[in-house]
Amino acid sequence: MDTYAVGFARPDRWSRGEPAHHSHPWHAVEAHRLPSELDGEIELAVCGAIVQIWGSQKWDRVGAGRTACPTCQEVTSVGKALTPAR
Ligand SMILES: [Zn+2]
Repeated sequence: MDTYAVGFARPDRWSRGEPAHHSHPWHAVEAHRLPSELDGEIELAVCGAIVQIWGSQKWDRVGAGRTACPTCQEVTSVGKALTPAR
């Protein structure tokens, strides 16, 4: 499985006292269906966060950015894929 949908941690769903999530609102969700079909669904991200699918975003692009969840980046290796090998 190498296809991921993008999930956004909505402010009203952030659990109390977890400010770290505010800077990394984007999460990866395993796409068991087409991401466009999952748009708007509430799903469990690969890191365990509850997120809402943002069907118009692609995880391979969003996941490489600074606002993506570090755990999700690690699980999906999306960040590493775009990092030049040393
Ligand atoms: Zn995550």
